[in-house]
Amino acid sequence: MSGRRFLLATRSEGKLRELREIFAEFGLEVKDLATLGIPESARENDLEEFETFEENALAKVRHFFELSGGIPTFGDDSGMCVNALGGEPGVYSKRWSGREDLEREALDAANNAKLTTRMRAARAEQGDRFTDAARYVSVAAFKDGVGELTRRGEIEGRVLTSPRGTGGFGYDPYFEAPELGGTFAESSIKNTAAGSHRARAFRALLSALRAEGRL
Ligand code: IMP
Repeated sequence: MSGRRFLLATRSEGKLRELREIFAEFGLEVKDLATLGIPESARENDLEEFETFEENALAKVRHFFELSGGIPTFGDDSGMCVNALGGEPGVYSKRWSGREDLEREALDAANNAKLTTRMRAARAEQGDRFTDAARYVSVAAFKDGVGELTRRGEIEGRVLTSPRGTGGFGYDPYFEAPELGGTFAESSIKNTAAGSHRARAFRALLSALRAEGRL
């Protein structure tokens, strides 16, 4: 372990499980928001107001770098982009269903119900032009006293008509990625941490920071 303290600015258990594996690979110890006792605020839920993953990821790390009193901070913004839906839900992946009253599994279920409905409609409308191709995107961001840095990771796949697997979170049971060998919900944490969009983004970010001597 390097002995330095870092903040991983997420409250998503799904992201934390995956990212702990990756940070451990780099010998880094990271604290999440709950562990550091940083309470959830109304402002926090409005941070993702931009139209790119990069801007949203940077908004998160800027906010929590300030709030933590200057602990070097990591964060990510991620989502699924579906070709047949013109790239939706994209940066709106988390709140796509519009169900602000729901959280965690219940929110995931509402988003997945919308995905299934929209894909069925797209298939009917687009006929031969229809494709189930999609990709997962993650932008990992970092802020410390020196500056800010982002890196993007992506993985190609397709949207299924019925779910497979019980692991993961979000759209995982409906997103099959050949490079992972199945849906994200069928993939073990180690397998996901080896090749996911988020793993690619964070490995690139951590490698760049290490090369600059900032870790
Ligand atoms: P974020 O917390 O703003 O990055 O939003 C992430 C949302 O995008 C999640 O709530 C999921 O709906 C979706 N998402 C992003 N990454 C993943 C993933 O790795 N698996 C499944 N869903 C994901």
